Amino acid sequence: MTHKRFATYTTMSSIAENIKVVRERIEAAARRVGRGPEEIKLVAVSKTVDADRIKEAVLTGITILGENRVQEAEEKVMSDELRVTVSKVEWHLVGHLQTNKAKAAVRLFNLIHSIDSIRLAEEVNKQAEKTDKVQRILVQLKLSEEETKYGVSEEDLISLLKGIKDLNNLKLEGLMTIPPFFEDPEMTRPYFKRLREIRDKVEEAGFKLPELSMGMSNDLEVAIEEGATMVRIGTAIFGERR
Ligand SMILES: *Cc1c(COP(=O)(O)O)cnc(C)c1O
Repeated sequence: MTHKRFATYTTMSSIAENIKVVRERIEAAARRVGRGPEEIKLVAVSKTVDADRIKEAVLTGITILGENRVQEAEEKVMSDELRVTVSKVEWHLVGHLQTNKAKAAVRLFNLIHSIDSIRLAEEVNKQAEKTDKVQRILVQLKLSEEETKYGVSEEDLISLLKGIKDLNNLKLEGLMTIPPFFEDPEMTRPYFKRLREIRDKVEEAGFKLPELSMGMSNDLEVAIEEGATMVRIGTAIFGERR
């Protein structure tokens, strides 16, 4: 490698550069639909990412980290390398949660995006109660027929929300969805639009659900145009996963 070529990269790391690009994408999409970029929270999804690169992201201004597995998050939070870094940021669970991991999840995460059954909600509430925590949650909706995707169905949503209302150690803040993957991000639009419409309908029934967690690296613009308040971005910040 020539010295000159190397020097090109010394002013800004690739992660810093990637975050800058993602923030520009968020801002442009928000402006297009008359929203302010400050309305959209960037969750940097750090699954499979090593400690050095996570630190770098936090140094570059990332304030929310997302993980999809409880155990991986736990290893990171407990590690000597990351404990201090992680204590300064919010930590979100964006992946599926099993009831037998609820206790650890309550200990680790500021916000759980993936509540999808009353059984899971009750278990998280019970664990939160034990430590006097009010656990912030989102309810994950399943809007496609894919068998591999978790989430409550639209028809069961209201009864789940009613059940959650009775659980005093949960604070419900909104809804989350993961559409099927499409190469063409425009194909995800109907799912994001649907999540917003369902939210609006449910709010008329008296629930307050300000947060919409939707949009990933490939389709964050479409999600923001349709009302996302949290985008979950992995690849566009940290590069392709192994
Ligand atoms: C991995 C993951 C993301 C990030 O996906 P990218 O396409 O890498 O941005 C977002 N949400 C969930 C639930 C994930 O598991």
